[in-house]
Amino acid sequence: MTLSELLPSLGCEAADRLEPGLWPRRTHLGAGGELLFAGAPVSHLAARFGTPTYLIDEAQVREAARAYGRALPEAEVAFAGKALCTRGVLRWIAEEGLSLDTCSAGEIAVARAAGFPAERILLHGNAKTPEDLKAALEYGVGRIVLDSLDEVEQLGSLAHGVQDVLVRVTPGVRGDTHEAVTTGTEGQKFGFSLRSDVRDNVDRAVTAVLAQPSLRLTGLHCHIGSQVSRVDRYEEAARRMIEVLVRVRENHGVALRELDLGGGHAVPYVARDDSFDLTGYARRLRVALAYECSSQDFPMPRLVIEPGRAIVGAAGITVYRVCAVKRGSRTFVAVDGGMSDNPRPSLYGARYTARLIGRHTKAARTPMTVVGRHCEAGDVLAADVYLPDDVHVGDLIAVPCTGAYHHSLASNYNLVSRPPLVSVHDGHATLLVPRETEEDLLRRC
Ligand SMILES: *Cc1c(COP(=O)(O)O)cnc(C)c1O
Repeated sequence: MTLSELLPSLGCEAADRLEPGLWPRRTHLGAGGELLFAGAPVSHLAARFGTPTYLIDEAQVREAARAYGRALPEAEVAFAGKALCTRGVLRWIAEEGLSLDTCSAGEIAVARAAGFPAERILLHGNAKTPEDLKAALEYGVGRIVLDSLDEVEQLGSLAHGVQDVLVRVTPGVRGDTHEAVTTGTEGQKFGFSLRSDVRDNVDRAVTAVLAQPSLRLTGLHCHIGSQVSRVDRYEEAARRMIEVLVRVRENHGVALRELDLGGGHAVPYVARDDSFDLTGYARRLRVALAYECSSQDFPMPRLVIEPGRAIVGAAGITVYRVCAVKRGSRTFVAVDGGMSDNPRPSLYGARYTARLIGRHTKAARTPMTVVGRHCEAGDVLAADVYLPDDVHVGDLIAVPCTGAYHHSLASNYNLVSRPPLVSVHDGHATLLVPRETEEDLLRRC
């Protein structure tokens, strides 16, 4: 139980300020309860672009990208495009000098349309289709991360020149995160196993790749999961991966020069969530790698990391309008979006906070549940959040930390149009992605 649950009046006090660390840095409360987002009044943005709308603070995305460059100047930082993949966003990422993770022909098409340099693109995926592989080869992406023996063969025969590849390893490290986003352990679908009794194991993968004249093995990859806040998990993964590199050198006579440790760095969604200590991560990773390499007499590999959520997550908010307030044993505040623009609560129990914006009220705050408009009881956006008792139809509700895995995970379930994505910079709004129209819907129905 939190302090504000024990003392509801605290919820009222707290209503006069934004929960620290959860809202984008340039988000402030203004006069009359207005929320200012990167210098623009959110009620004006809601009037101009409608609701629900995804807002993203361009400067914060760029700053997050730069923070990685500063923390780990020796590493290649690849933005995991699946977190938020639009041409506009990918242009910022390209301008900030980052590389890009993709995992489908579709994401490669968007990267291509954004003019993202091909040599800085990686292609991932546990089940790449021939179309994915062809799109990658045609654009000439820098590296393809191989995830099965079948894929080694397929890519080997499709590649004409020489394609640089990495092999994805299952390092057996738990990210301590939701099972649906745990990707570094045995018994899930990603990567080659370290167990020699398994057909798709690392040694067989390396043998298979080295036998393909059109593939050049540059290194190994692992990704332990998503929303991981414990730095020791990354140290552990780094140590294990150096051991694997040493074993590859022993068994195959090649000293691979690249080590990709994936992404997954956590972002706080609600007050009790841990945040990710980027500086500590950089320092401890550097020490772990240096120690492990020198004790095993292995040349320090070039480090690649792949943050997605940590670049864009905290830079975005979603703005909804209240459609109905239902009072009973629990008060439900139903808004004009829901699991179509944010499926994360129903997918893996993700928690969010929410606040009333756009007007000032002295009404007491009580716990309410913000729900969506979809035909599923699990369509909850934020449970037990403190909202003013006088919340009513037409009010605006803002939810922070919606920059990652919202636009990219959205559906048009119930044929609800997907929201627009609006970037805001110095008070100026730019429509990056328009709202889905009836015409868009009819093209598919
Ligand atoms: C999803 C994914 C990432 C990024 O994960 P975040 O949690 O957004 O940082 C990085 N690498 C791979 C291979 C992924 O699948």
